[in-house]
Amino acid sequence: MNKTKIVATVGPASEDINVLREMINNGVDVIRINLSHANHDFCRQIVEKVNILNKELNLHVGIMFDTHGPDIRVGKFLNGSALFQKGSKIRIYNKEVLGDNTKFSVDYKEIIDDVYLGTIIKLNDGKVSLKVVDKDFSSLICEVLNDGYVFDNRGVNIPGIKLSRPFLSSKDKEDIKLACELKADFVALSFVGSVEDVLIANDLLIEFDNDHIGLISKIETERALDDIDEIIKVSDGVMIARGDLGTEVPAERIPGLQKKIIAKAHALGKVSIVATEMLASMETSLVPTRAEVSDVANAVLDGADAVMLSGETTIGKYPVGTIQMMEKIITSAEQDINYNDFLQKTMKTEKQDTTGLISYSVAECAMRLKCKVIVTPTLSGYTARKMSRFRPMCPIIALTPSDDVIKSLALSFGVYGVKIDEFENFDHIQNISKEKARQMIEHKTGDKIVITGGYPMRAGRTTNFLHIDEL
Ligand code: PEP
Repeated sequence: MNKTKIVATVGPASEDINVLREMINNGVDVIRINLSHANHDFCRQIVEKVNILNKELNLHVGIMFDTHGPDIRVGKFLNGSALFQKGSKIRIYNKEVLGDNTKFSVDYKEIIDDVYLGTIIKLNDGKVSLKVVDKDFSSLICEVLNDGYVFDNRGVNIPGIKLSRPFLSSKDKEDIKLACELKADFVALSFVGSVEDVLIANDLLIEFDNDHIGLISKIETERALDDIDEIIKVSDGVMIARGDLGTEVPAERIPGLQKKIIAKAHALGKVSIVATEMLASMETSLVPTRAEVSDVANAVLDGADAVMLSGETTIGKYPVGTIQMMEKIITSAEQDINYNDFLQKTMKTEKQDTTGLISYSVAECAMRLKCKVIVTPTLSGYTARKMSRFRPMCPIIALTPSDDVIKSLALSFGVYGVKIDEFENFDHIQNISKEKARQMIEHKTGDKIVITGGYPMRAGRTTNFLHIDEL
């Protein structure tokens, strides 16, 4: 049973229920729908299929909606593209014009006011860079800094600039409303730039009366990096969205930033997801490159809660084969995690309260006694999340009567939720913990189990026992 979770994006290559079933059977924990491409019909169909499969397979695979966000796109070009040449001058209009190698338009009216002379504008995933050298009331005049093609509707990045448009567009708001209606478990917020952005999304969830969805801030702009600690504090987790981040900052900075963001999220008790191009060559090949294998393994060793697939499972030839490969790499990398190091590091950043100290002791017992599993009865998921933070060597089974709580744990390292009826008494907790552990975990008689939680059970943060038993 792997502890690092897998998020797989669904698209044309994987929307078929049989492909989804195979992906889930091979280890997918969360299905992601990218609202930059998916319409509401597609979302409804996918959520329905995942609900069917969860029932059929008796699982709790989570659903993540990923917003389009406040991105800027170029307009249309004559014949679909234009070749921009280094040193030439080009005009950017904020009203529609048919583009060529002297001009093009963007879908953002305020761009002229928002940028300064000297601002760098990147097009087409950063493949072409422009520098603003002049502006008038209806256009920006830019110098092209390198040769490259730009195609219809490609993205525009303006690193370091705070856009004056609202963080959530009316489309994003409609998409989040749908996420609430369809009972999605996570909303990933694209292009978060500040704490206020996350709070705006949170307010919208409150307006829709939703207290279940976890907000994942996608870290993909320079502005987000400037405010990273505060953003993590108000989010339920972060995604290191290396695609857009690699356009905003030099790509060679990404490995270091990835490690720092994962460590910060871990210190604040929030989940982290490493995303984009993890097994990109598997879009067309069943064998990943050695560098990709190292990339997935390093994310596991860095302490990420989850790794994510995008193009590999949306348009790739081998969505199921890619999941199988990812599981294999995770299994192997998890053997090399320095669990004791994580445990000691976590304790240094942990509040020295009862739950924290019990969680630390549980992880330490599990490691020293070579326990097969930790079982925690939980009403809110709090103890399971806390346990996960200490990165114990063995899996954590979270027993709870709530489907929503189980799915909210889908991204947490090592945690597997299981639905049970209400707990009757302490004996019942012990018996049911051992029964579920025996069903789920490979074991032999006498193998050790740790049971931890709060008793009597009530909503709230009341972890107060650690019980060691045998299977
Ligand atoms: C990314 O930029 O890495 C990312 C995950 O976002 P998207 O897939 O929406 O581009």
